[in-house]
Amino acid sequence: MAKAIKKGLLCPSFVRENWLLLSTVAAVLTGIGIGVLVREYGSLSKLDKVYFAFPGELLMRMLKLIILPLIISSIIAGIILVVTIRPGVTQRASEIDRMGSSPEVNTVDALLDLVRNMFPENLVQACFQQYKTKREKVKTTTAVDKKSSMFREEPTTMATTAKASENKTQEYKIVGMYSNGINVLGLIVFCLVFGVIIGKMGEKGQVLMDFFNALNEATMRIVQIIMWYMPIGIVFLIAGKIIAVEDWEIFRKLGLYMATVIIGLAIHSGIVLPLIYFIIVRKNPFWFAMGMAQALLTALMTSSSSATLPVTFRCAEENNLIDKRITRFVLPVGATINMDGTALYEAVAAIFIAQLNDLKLDIGQIVTISVTATAASIGAAGVPQAGLVTMVIVLSAIGLPAEDVTLIIAVDWLLDRFRTTVNVLGDAFGTGVVEKLSKKELEQMDVTSEVNIVNPFALETGIPDNDETQAEKSYINGGFDVDKSDTISFTQTSQF
Ligand code: ASP
Repeated sequence: MAKAIKKGLLCPSFVRENWLLLSTVAAVLTGIGIGVLVREYGSLSKLDKVYFAFPGELLMRMLKLIILPLIISSIIAGIILVVTIRPGVTQRASEIDRMGSSPEVNTVDALLDLVRNMFPENLVQACFQQYKTKREKVKTTTAVDKKSSMFREEPTTMATTAKASENKTQEYKIVGMYSNGINVLGLIVFCLVFGVIIGKMGEKGQVLMDFFNALNEATMRIVQIIMWYMPIGIVFLIAGKIIAVEDWEIFRKLGLYMATVIIGLAIHSGIVLPLIYFIIVRKNPFWFAMGMAQALLTALMTSSSSATLPVTFRCAEENNLIDKRITRFVLPVGATINMDGTALYEAVAAIFIAQLNDLKLDIGQIVTISVTATAASIGAAGVPQAGLVTMVIVLSAIGLPAEDVTLIIAVDWLLDRFRTTVNVLGDAFGTGVVEKLSKKELEQMDVTSEVNIVNPFALETGIPDNDETQAEKSYINGGFDVDKSDTISFTQTSQF
Protein backbone atom coordinates (compact mmCIF):
# COMPACT_ATOMS: atom_id res chain seq x y z
CA MET A 1 0.00 0.00 0.00
CA ALA A 2 2.67 2.44 1.16
CA LYS A 3 4.77 1.33 -1.76
CA ALA A 4 1.93 1.99 -4.16
CA ILE A 5 1.36 5.47 -2.73
CA LYS A 6 5.08 6.20 -2.93
CA LYS A 7 5.14 4.98 -6.50
CA GLY A 8 2.12 7.13 -7.28
CA LEU A 9 3.74 10.22 -5.78
CA LEU A 10 6.95 9.73 -7.69
CA CYS A 11 5.16 8.99 -10.93
CA PRO A 12 5.99 11.71 -13.48
CA SER A 13 2.34 12.05 -14.54
CA PHE A 14 1.32 12.68 -10.92
CA VAL A 15 3.96 15.40 -10.66
CA ARG A 16 2.94 16.87 -14.03
CA GLU A 17 -0.74 16.98 -13.12
CA ASN A 18 -0.15 18.38 -9.67
CA TRP A 19 2.89 20.55 -10.22
CA LEU A 20 1.14 23.66 -8.99
CA LEU A 21 -0.10 22.07 -5.80
CA LEU A 22 3.26 20.44 -5.14
CA SER A 23 5.18 23.63 -5.76
CA THR A 24 2.76 25.57 -3.52
CA VAL A 25 3.30 23.07 -0.70
CA ALA A 26 7.06 23.34 -1.29
CA ALA A 27 6.70 27.13 -1.28
CA VAL A 28 4.92 27.08 2.09
CA LEU A 29 7.62 24.91 3.65
CA THR A 30 10.42 26.98 2.09
CA GLY A 31 8.71 30.16 3.26
CA ILE A 32 8.47 28.87 6.83
CA GLY A 33 12.13 27.80 6.71
CA ILE A 34 13.36 31.12 5.33
CA GLY A 35 11.12 33.04 7.71
CA VAL A 36 12.44 31.23 10.78
CA LEU A 37 16.06 31.55 9.64
CA VAL A 38 15.87 35.24 8.81
CA ARG A 39 14.02 35.91 12.04
CA GLU A 40 16.65 34.03 14.00
CA TYR A 41 19.83 35.22 12.29
CA GLY A 42 19.02 38.27 10.23
CA SER A 43 18.56 41.59 11.93
CA LEU A 44 16.14 43.35 9.63
CA SER A 45 14.85 46.81 10.28
CA LYS A 46 11.12 47.52 9.93
CA LEU A 47 11.75 48.90 6.46
CA ASP A 48 13.85 45.88 5.44
CA LYS A 49 10.98 43.61 6.46
CA VAL A 50 8.65 45.44 4.09
CA TYR A 51 11.13 45.13 1.23
CA PHE A 52 11.72 41.48 2.07
CA ALA A 53 7.99 40.71 1.75
CA PHE A 54 7.75 42.54 -1.60
CA PRO A 55 7.36 39.46 -3.89
CA GLY A 56 4.51 38.29 -1.62
CA GLU A 57 2.90 41.72 -1.78
CA LEU A 58 3.05 41.45 -5.58
CA LEU A 59 1.12 38.17 -5.51
CA MET A 60 -1.62 39.72 -3.38
CA ARG A 61 -1.84 42.67 -5.75
CA MET A 62 -2.18 40.38 -8.77
CA LEU A 63 -4.89 38.31 -7.12
CA LYS A 64 -6.79 41.42 -6.06
CA LEU A 65 -6.41 42.89 -9.54
CA ILE A 66 -8.20 39.99 -11.13
CA ILE A 67 -11.16 39.95 -8.68
CA LEU A 68 -13.12 42.73 -10.41
CA PRO A 69 -13.15 41.38 -13.99
CA LEU A 70 -13.59 37.88 -12.64
CA ILE A 71 -16.64 38.72 -10.56
CA ILE A 72 -18.27 40.92 -13.19
CA SER A 73 -17.76 38.56 -16.10
CA SER A 74 -18.54 35.37 -14.24
CA ILE A 75 -21.66 36.68 -12.50
CA ILE A 76 -23.15 38.17 -15.65
CA ALA A 77 -22.20 35.15 -17.74
CA GLY A 78 -23.44 32.83 -14.96
CA ILE A 79 -26.67 34.60 -14.25
CA ILE A 80 -27.81 34.42 -17.85
CA LEU A 81 -27.84 30.67 -17.40
CA VAL A 82 -29.27 30.70 -13.94
CA VAL A 83 -32.30 32.53 -15.31
CA THR A 84 -32.89 29.51 -17.48
CA ILE A 85 -31.90 26.63 -15.23
CA ARG A 86 -33.79 27.80 -12.10
CA PRO A 87 -31.79 25.72 -9.68
CA GLY A 88 -34.54 25.81 -7.10
CA VAL A 89 -32.20 27.02 -4.44
CA THR A 90 -33.12 30.33 -2.90
CA GLN A 91 -30.11 32.52 -2.30
CA ARG A 92 -30.09 34.94 0.58
CA ALA A 93 -30.29 38.39 -0.82
CA SER A 94 -28.41 40.11 1.94
CA GLU A 95 -24.80 40.91 1.87
CA ILE A 96 -22.51 43.61 2.93
CA ASP A 97 -19.01 44.27 1.94
CA ARG A 98 -17.13 46.54 4.28
CA MET A 99 -13.56 47.10 5.13
CA GLY A 100 -12.72 48.87 8.31
CA SER A 101 -15.24 49.95 10.84
CA SER A 102 -15.30 51.85 14.05
CA PRO A 103 -16.82 51.01 17.40
CA GLU A 104 -19.33 53.84 16.83
CA VAL A 105 -21.04 51.75 14.15
CA ASN A 106 -24.00 50.01 15.67
CA THR A 107 -26.02 47.04 14.51
CA VAL A 108 -28.78 49.05 12.83
CA ASP A 109 -26.29 51.19 10.91
CA ALA A 110 -24.37 48.11 9.83
CA LEU A 111 -27.49 46.40 8.54
CA LEU A 112 -28.64 49.54 6.75
CA ASP A 113 -25.21 49.88 5.15
CA LEU A 114 -25.61 46.35 3.93
CA VAL A 115 -28.76 47.32 2.07
CA ARG A 116 -27.31 50.66 0.92
CA ASN A 117 -24.31 48.90 -0.58
CA MET A 118 -26.66 46.68 -2.56
CA PHE A 119 -27.65 49.79 -4.48
CA PRO A 120 -24.47 51.70 -5.30
CA GLU A 121 -25.19 55.23 -6.43
CA ASN A 122 -22.24 55.15 -8.80
CA LEU A 123 -21.26 51.99 -10.58
CA VAL A 124 -17.71 53.09 -11.30
CA GLN A 125 -17.20 54.04 -7.67
CA ALA A 126 -18.56 50.63 -6.62
CA CYS A 127 -15.54 49.11 -8.33
CA PHE A 128 -13.26 50.52 -5.66
CA GLN A 129 -15.26 51.99 -2.78
CA GLN A 130 -18.13 51.05 -0.54
CA TYR A 131 -20.49 53.05 1.60
CA LYS A 132 -19.94 53.16 5.34
CA THR A 133 -21.93 54.92 8.01
CA LYS A 134 -20.15 56.69 10.78
CA ARG A 135 -21.82 57.94 13.92
CA GLU A 136 -20.42 61.03 15.47
CA LYS A 137 -21.36 62.48 18.80
CA VAL A 138 -22.49 66.03 18.18
CA LYS A 139 -22.80 67.49 21.64
CA THR A 140 -24.62 67.03 24.89
CA THR A 141 -27.52 69.39 25.32
CA THR A 142 -30.10 69.89 28.02
CA ALA A 143 -33.78 69.18 27.38
CA VAL A 144 -34.46 72.92 27.17
CA ASP A 145 -32.28 73.59 24.14
CA LYS A 146 -33.01 70.22 22.55
CA LYS A 147 -35.85 71.57 20.46
CA SER A 148 -33.83 74.35 18.93
CA SER A 149 -30.93 72.04 18.14
CA MET A 150 -33.22 69.69 16.23
CA PHE A 151 -33.82 72.43 13.69
CA ARG A 152 -30.22 73.43 13.27
CA GLU A 153 -28.82 72.58 9.89
CA GLU A 154 -25.87 70.20 9.64
CA PRO A 155 -24.37 70.20 6.15
CA THR A 156 -23.01 66.62 6.23
CA THR A 157 -25.82 65.20 8.34
CA MET A 158 -28.16 62.67 6.78
CA ALA A 159 -30.26 62.18 9.89
CA THR A 160 -30.16 63.33 13.44
CA THR A 161 -31.15 61.23 16.38
CA ALA A 162 -31.77 62.42 19.88
CA LYS A 163 -31.51 60.23 22.92
CA ALA A 164 -32.77 61.59 26.21
CA SER A 165 -31.11 60.56 29.38
CA GLU A 166 -32.63 62.35 32.38
CA ASN A 167 -32.68 65.93 31.16
CA LYS A 168 -29.55 65.56 29.01
CA THR A 169 -29.66 64.63 25.34
CA GLN A 170 -26.86 62.98 23.46
CA GLU A 171 -27.12 63.77 19.81
CA TYR A 172 -25.49 61.85 17.05
CA LYS A 173 -25.07 62.74 13.49
CA ILE A 174 -24.77 60.04 10.91
CA VAL A 175 -22.06 60.83 8.45
CA GLY A 176 -22.08 58.99 5.18
CA MET A 177 -18.63 58.18 3.93
CA TYR A 178 -16.90 55.81 1.58
CA SER A 179 -14.11 53.42 2.44
CA ASN A 180 -11.71 51.75 0.06
CA GLY A 181 -12.53 48.26 -1.17
CA ILE A 182 -14.68 46.81 -3.94
CA ASN A 183 -18.40 46.98 -3.21
CA VAL A 184 -18.84 43.38 -4.25
CA LEU A 185 -22.43 43.26 -3.05
CA GLY A 186 -23.43 46.22 -5.19
CA LEU A 187 -21.70 44.75 -8.21
CA ILE A 188 -23.31 41.35 -7.67
CA VAL A 189 -26.78 42.89 -7.47
CA PHE A 190 -26.17 44.99 -10.58
CA CYS A 191 -24.64 42.13 -12.55
CA LEU A 192 -27.51 39.93 -11.51
CA VAL A 193 -30.07 42.33 -12.91
CA PHE A 194 -27.89 43.02 -15.95
CA GLY A 195 -27.52 39.30 -16.63
CA VAL A 196 -31.27 38.71 -16.38
CA ILE A 197 -31.97 41.59 -18.76
CA ILE A 198 -29.35 40.44 -21.30
CA GLY A 199 -30.81 36.97 -21.13
CA LYS A 200 -34.28 38.30 -21.85
CA MET A 201 -33.17 40.57 -24.69
CA GLY A 202 -32.89 37.80 -27.18
CA GLU A 203 -31.03 38.54 -30.39
CA LYS A 204 -30.17 42.08 -29.37
CA GLY A 205 -28.41 40.90 -26.24
CA GLN A 206 -26.24 38.40 -28.08
CA VAL A 207 -23.33 40.80 -28.54
CA LEU A 208 -23.19 41.52 -24.81
CA MET A 209 -23.48 37.84 -24.02
CA ASP A 210 -20.52 37.09 -26.27
CA PHE A 211 -18.61 40.01 -24.80
CA PHE A 212 -18.96 38.81 -21.21
CA ASN A 213 -18.16 35.23 -22.16
CA ALA A 214 -15.01 36.42 -23.93
CA LEU A 215 -14.12 38.66 -20.98
CA ASN A 216 -14.46 35.72 -18.65
CA GLU A 217 -12.31 33.54 -20.86
CA ALA A 218 -9.62 36.23 -21.06
CA THR A 219 -9.69 36.75 -17.31
CA MET A 220 -9.21 33.06 -16.65
CA ARG A 221 -6.21 33.09 -18.95
CA ILE A 222 -4.66 35.89 -16.92
CA VAL A 223 -5.37 33.83 -13.81
CA GLN A 224 -3.33 31.07 -15.38
CA ILE A 225 -0.35 33.41 -15.68
CA ILE A 226 -0.74 34.49 -12.04
CA MET A 227 -0.68 30.82 -11.05
CA TRP A 228 2.82 30.48 -12.39
CA TYR A 229 4.00 33.22 -10.10
CA MET A 230 2.10 31.88 -7.11
CA PRO A 231 4.79 29.61 -5.54
CA ILE A 232 7.34 32.45 -5.53
CA GLY A 233 4.85 34.88 -4.04
CA ILE A 234 3.84 32.43 -1.36
CA VAL A 235 7.43 31.87 -0.16
CA PHE A 236 7.74 35.56 0.62
CA LEU A 237 4.20 35.97 1.85
CA ILE A 238 4.71 33.41 4.59
CA ALA A 239 8.35 34.26 5.35
CA GLY A 240 7.48 37.96 5.52
CA LYS A 241 4.69 37.26 8.01
CA ILE A 242 6.88 35.11 10.24
CA ILE A 243 9.48 37.85 10.34
CA ALA A 244 6.93 40.58 10.99
CA VAL A 245 5.19 39.02 14.02
CA GLU A 246 6.44 40.83 17.06
CA ASP A 247 4.80 39.08 19.98
CA TRP A 248 4.82 35.28 20.03
CA GLU A 249 4.16 35.22 23.78
CA ILE A 250 0.52 36.18 23.20
CA PHE A 251 -0.05 32.79 21.54
CA ARG A 252 0.68 31.05 24.86
CA LYS A 253 -1.72 33.33 26.72
CA LEU A 254 -4.55 32.89 24.23
CA GLY A 255 -3.69 29.25 23.51
CA LEU A 256 -6.94 27.78 24.84
CA TYR A 257 -9.06 30.27 22.92
CA MET A 258 -7.17 29.54 19.73
CA ALA A 259 -7.46 25.80 20.30
CA THR A 260 -11.24 26.16 20.75
CA VAL A 261 -11.59 28.09 17.47
CA ILE A 262 -9.37 25.64 15.59
CA ILE A 263 -11.16 22.55 17.00
CA GLY A 264 -14.52 24.12 16.06
CA LEU A 265 -13.31 24.82 12.54
CA ALA A 266 -11.88 21.31 12.27
CA ILE A 267 -15.20 19.73 13.31
CA HIS A 268 -17.10 21.92 10.87
CA SER A 269 -14.79 21.29 7.93
CA GLY A 270 -13.93 17.68 8.74
CA ILE A 271 -17.36 16.39 9.79
CA VAL A 272 -20.29 18.78 9.24
CA LEU A 273 -19.55 20.02 5.72
CA PRO A 274 -18.45 16.61 4.35
CA LEU A 275 -21.55 15.02 5.88
CA ILE A 276 -23.87 17.54 4.21
CA TYR A 277 -22.06 16.98 0.92
CA PHE A 278 -22.21 13.21 1.29
CA ILE A 279 -25.91 13.13 2.23
CA ILE A 280 -26.90 15.28 -0.74
CA VAL A 281 -24.36 14.41 -3.41
CA ARG A 282 -23.58 10.81 -2.42
CA LYS A 283 -19.94 11.11 -3.40
CA ASN A 284 -16.73 10.96 -1.37
CA PRO A 285 -16.37 14.44 0.23
CA PHE A 286 -12.72 13.95 1.09
CA TRP A 287 -11.88 13.20 -2.49
CA PHE A 288 -13.72 16.39 -3.42
CA ALA A 289 -11.80 18.36 -0.76
CA MET A 290 -8.53 16.97 -2.14
CA GLY A 291 -9.45 18.44 -5.51
CA MET A 292 -9.74 21.82 -3.80
CA ALA A 293 -6.33 21.51 -2.09
CA GLN A 294 -4.69 24.26 -4.12
CA ALA A 295 -7.49 26.70 -3.30
CA LEU A 296 -7.47 25.76 0.38
CA LEU A 297 -3.73 26.32 0.56
CA THR A 298 -4.09 29.67 -1.19
CA ALA A 299 -6.79 30.69 1.30
CA LEU A 300 -4.48 29.70 4.14
CA MET A 301 -1.72 31.86 2.70
CA THR A 302 -3.73 34.91 1.64
CA SER A 303 -6.46 35.07 4.36
CA SER A 304 -8.85 36.25 1.68
CA SER A 305 -11.70 34.34 0.05
CA SER A 306 -11.92 36.98 -2.68
CA ALA A 307 -8.23 36.78 -3.55
CA THR A 308 -8.52 32.99 -3.58
CA LEU A 309 -11.49 33.12 -5.97
CA PRO A 310 -9.50 32.60 -9.20
CA VAL A 311 -7.89 29.46 -7.75
CA THR A 312 -11.21 28.23 -6.35
CA PHE A 313 -12.68 28.50 -9.85
CA ARG A 314 -9.91 26.46 -11.38
CA CYS A 315 -9.96 23.74 -8.74
CA ALA A 316 -13.76 23.37 -8.82
CA GLU A 317 -13.92 23.31 -12.61
CA GLU A 318 -10.77 21.45 -13.54
CA ASN A 319 -10.23 19.02 -10.66
CA ASN A 320 -13.76 18.43 -9.41
CA LEU A 321 -15.37 18.91 -12.83
CA ILE A 322 -18.18 21.05 -11.47
CA ASP A 323 -20.32 22.51 -14.23
CA LYS A 324 -19.17 26.01 -15.17
CA ARG A 325 -22.76 27.16 -15.22
CA ILE A 326 -22.81 26.46 -11.49
CA THR A 327 -19.36 27.68 -10.44
CA ARG A 328 -19.67 31.04 -12.16
CA PHE A 329 -22.66 31.99 -10.12
CA VAL A 330 -22.15 30.13 -6.85
CA LEU A 331 -18.47 30.91 -6.23
CA PRO A 332 -18.48 34.73 -6.45
CA VAL A 333 -21.65 34.93 -4.36
CA GLY A 334 -20.24 32.35 -1.92
CA ALA A 335 -16.91 34.18 -1.58
CA THR A 336 -18.83 37.32 -0.67
CA ILE A 337 -21.56 36.13 1.66
CA ASN A 338 -21.08 32.49 2.59
CA MET A 339 -18.61 32.42 5.44
CA ASP A 340 -19.07 29.41 7.68
CA GLY A 341 -15.66 29.74 9.26
CA THR A 342 -16.15 33.40 10.08
CA ALA A 343 -19.57 32.78 11.65
CA LEU A 344 -18.16 30.03 13.82
CA TYR A 345 -15.18 32.14 14.78
CA GLU A 346 -17.26 35.18 15.69
CA ALA A 347 -19.55 33.13 17.91
CA VAL A 348 -16.62 31.52 19.76
CA ALA A 349 -14.83 34.87 20.09
CA ALA A 350 -17.93 36.60 21.46
CA ILE A 351 -18.48 33.87 24.06
CA PHE A 352 -14.81 34.02 24.97
CA ILE A 353 -15.00 37.78 25.48
CA ALA A 354 -18.20 37.35 27.52
CA GLN A 355 -16.36 34.89 29.75
CA LEU A 356 -13.50 37.33 30.16
CA ASN A 357 -16.07 39.87 31.33
CA ASP A 358 -17.58 37.36 33.79
CA LEU A 359 -20.84 37.59 31.92
CA LYS A 360 -23.04 34.53 32.38
CA LEU A 361 -24.83 33.87 29.11
CA ASP A 362 -28.34 32.48 29.11
CA ILE A 363 -29.87 30.51 26.24
CA GLY A 364 -31.43 33.67 24.76
CA GLN A 365 -28.06 35.39 24.60
CA ILE A 366 -26.41 32.36 23.04
CA VAL A 367 -29.13 32.30 20.38
CA THR A 368 -28.57 36.05 19.86
CA ILE A 369 -24.85 35.41 19.41
CA SER A 370 -25.52 32.65 16.88
CA VAL A 371 -27.90 34.79 14.84
CA THR A 372 -25.81 37.97 14.92
CA ALA A 373 -22.59 36.03 14.24
CA THR A 374 -24.21 34.59 11.12
CA ALA A 375 -25.41 38.04 10.04
CA ALA A 376 -22.00 39.53 10.80
CA SER A 377 -20.25 36.83 8.76
CA ILE A 378 -22.49 37.63 5.79
CA GLY A 379 -21.52 41.25 6.29
CA ALA A 380 -17.81 40.52 6.41
CA ALA A 381 -15.96 41.10 3.17
CA GLY A 382 -13.78 38.34 1.78
CA VAL A 383 -10.64 40.18 2.76
CA PRO A 384 -8.12 39.65 5.55
CA GLN A 385 -9.48 40.20 9.06
CA ALA A 386 -12.85 41.50 7.91
CA GLY A 387 -14.48 39.22 10.47
CA LEU A 388 -12.77 41.08 13.27
CA VAL A 389 -14.42 44.30 12.17
CA THR A 390 -17.93 42.86 12.04
CA MET A 391 -17.35 41.27 15.49
CA VAL A 392 -18.44 44.63 16.87
CA ILE A 393 -22.01 43.83 15.80
CA VAL A 394 -22.03 40.60 17.77
CA LEU A 395 -20.49 42.17 20.85
CA SER A 396 -22.88 45.11 20.91
CA ALA A 397 -25.87 42.77 20.47
CA ILE A 398 -25.17 41.17 23.84
CA GLY A 399 -24.07 44.40 25.49
CA LEU A 400 -20.34 43.80 25.56
CA PRO A 401 -17.88 46.65 25.02
CA ALA A 402 -16.80 46.92 21.40
CA GLU A 403 -13.26 47.80 22.50
CA ASP A 404 -12.86 44.24 23.83
CA VAL A 405 -12.25 43.19 20.28
CA THR A 406 -8.71 44.40 20.88
CA LEU A 407 -8.24 41.47 23.27
CA ILE A 408 -8.11 39.02 20.41
CA ILE A 409 -6.54 41.17 17.71
CA ALA A 410 -3.03 39.88 18.31
CA VAL A 411 -3.86 36.32 17.26
CA ASP A 412 -6.49 37.17 14.70
CA TRP A 413 -4.16 37.13 11.71
CA LEU A 414 -3.46 33.45 12.36
CA LEU A 415 -7.05 32.40 13.09
CA ASP A 416 -8.11 34.37 10.01
CA ARG A 417 -6.12 31.99 7.84
CA PHE A 418 -7.90 28.94 9.20
CA ARG A 419 -11.38 30.41 9.01
CA THR A 420 -10.78 31.68 5.47
CA THR A 421 -9.77 28.15 4.47
CA VAL A 422 -13.06 26.85 5.93
CA ASN A 423 -14.97 29.62 4.13
CA VAL A 424 -13.48 28.55 0.80
CA LEU A 425 -14.16 24.88 1.53
CA GLY A 426 -17.79 25.76 2.34
CA ASP A 427 -18.16 27.54 -0.99
CA ALA A 428 -16.61 24.61 -2.82
CA PHE A 429 -18.92 22.04 -1.23
CA GLY A 430 -21.72 24.49 -2.05
CA THR A 431 -21.00 24.16 -5.77
CA GLY A 432 -21.18 20.36 -5.49
CA VAL A 433 -24.49 20.53 -3.65
CA VAL A 434 -26.04 23.09 -6.02
CA GLU A 435 -24.88 21.07 -9.02
CA LYS A 436 -26.54 17.99 -7.61
CA LEU A 437 -29.75 19.87 -6.85
CA SER A 438 -29.77 21.36 -10.36
CA LYS A 439 -28.96 18.05 -12.04
CA LYS A 440 -32.29 17.71 -13.80
CA GLU A 441 -32.27 21.24 -15.19
CA LEU A 442 -28.66 20.91 -16.34
CA GLU A 443 -29.37 17.63 -18.09
CA GLN A 444 -32.43 19.13 -19.72
CA MET A 445 -30.31 21.99 -21.03
CA ASP A 446 -27.72 19.54 -22.34
CA VAL A 447 -30.42 17.56 -24.14
CA THR A 448 -31.81 20.74 -25.69
CA SER A 449 -28.28 21.63 -26.71
CA GLU A 450 -27.71 18.29 -28.42
CA VAL A 451 -31.03 18.49 -30.22
CA ASN A 452 -30.09 21.89 -31.56
CA ILE A 453 -26.64 20.76 -32.61
CA VAL A 454 -28.06 17.75 -34.43
CA ASN A 455 -30.85 19.84 -35.96
CA PRO A 456 -29.56 23.37 -36.52
CA PHE A 457 -32.62 24.09 -38.64
CA ALA A 458 -34.47 25.53 -35.68
CA LEU A 459 -31.65 27.99 -35.08
CA GLU A 460 -31.10 28.83 -38.70
CA THR A 461 -34.74 29.59 -39.27
CA GLY A 462 -34.76 31.67 -36.14
CA ILE A 463 -38.07 30.12 -35.21
CA PRO A 464 -38.04 29.02 -31.62
CA ASP A 465 -39.66 25.66 -30.76
CA ASN A 466 -41.42 27.09 -27.76
CA ASP A 467 -41.54 30.50 -26.16
CA GLU A 468 -37.76 30.70 -25.65
CA THR A 469 -36.02 33.30 -27.69
CA GLN A 470 -33.22 32.38 -29.99
CA ALA A 471 -30.61 34.03 -27.84
CA GLU A 472 -31.84 32.07 -24.85
CA LYS A 473 -31.32 28.96 -26.93
CA SER A 474 -27.74 29.86 -27.61
CA TYR A 475 -26.84 29.85 -23.99
CA ILE A 476 -28.93 26.78 -23.39
CA ASN A 477 -26.63 25.37 -26.00
CA GLY A 478 -23.77 25.69 -23.57
CA GLY A 479 -22.75 29.33 -23.81
CA PHE A 480 -20.27 28.47 -21.13
CA ASP A 481 -18.79 25.53 -22.82
CA VAL A 482 -16.23 27.17 -25.08
CA ASP A 483 -16.35 24.52 -27.79
CA LYS A 484 -20.11 24.29 -27.89
CA SER A 485 -20.68 28.01 -27.76
CA ASP A 486 -18.24 28.53 -30.58
CA THR A 487 -20.09 26.02 -32.71
CA ILE A 488 -23.45 27.53 -31.97
CA SER A 489 -22.49 31.15 -32.35
CA PHE A 490 -20.94 30.25 -35.72
CA THR A 491 -24.20 28.59 -36.75
CA GLN A 492 -26.06 31.66 -35.64
CA THR A 493 -23.89 34.34 -37.12
CA SER A 494 -23.71 32.48 -40.41
CA GLN A 495 -27.30 33.41 -41.09
CA PHE A 496 -26.56 37.16 -41.07
N1 ASP B 1 -10.66 36.69 5.81
C1 ASP B 1 -11.95 36.07 5.74
C2 ASP B 1 -12.28 35.73 4.30
O1 ASP B 1 -11.76 36.33 3.40
C3 ASP B 1 -13.03 36.92 6.31
C4 ASP B 1 -12.81 37.04 7.78
O2 ASP B 1 -12.09 37.92 8.22
O3 ASP B 1 -13.34 36.21 8.52
O4 ASP B 1 -13.05 34.83 4.06
